[in-house]
Amino acid sequence: MPVVSVSMPADLIERLDDLAAEHDYTGRSEVVRESARILFGEFENDRLEDRELAGIVSVLYDFGTQSVERRLTQLRHDHEEHVASTLHGHVDDYCLELFVLEADLEVISRFVGQVRSVEDVRTVDYSLVPLDSVGQLQES
Ligand SMILES: [Zn+2]
Repeated sequence: MPVVSVSMPADLIERLDDLAAEHDYTGRSEVVRESARILFGEFENDRLEDRELAGIVSVLYDFGTQSVERRLTQLRHDHEEHVASTLHGHVDDYCLELFVLEADLEVISRFVGQVRSVEDVRTVDYSLVPLDSVGQLQES
């Protein structure tokens, strides 16, 4: 298979190698391939296609990193029609930005991807709730 060269921070490479060793992957390449497959599958969820969703996206970054704050503000404005609310708080030494979106899967996945690509963001997590299922009991 083709070989590609990818730039990434040294600490991320170290974590890839640690994870590969701990979980018996053949090496960092296999971890990266598996990561890519998981990422591709993440938003290819037929169950959520074409449904209106509430998306809660949380973003952690180092306290007071102005470049991140500026970019997140810009993203909030770019998605004004879909951002229902935001909250900014502080946990430990981090700023926590919480976005509540009301949109379909395509819009929310694009938003999450844009937030993930912001330089110096530490973690991005999200949860999705189909709005047509709100209040219905889950059959198990
Ligand atoms: Zn803050």
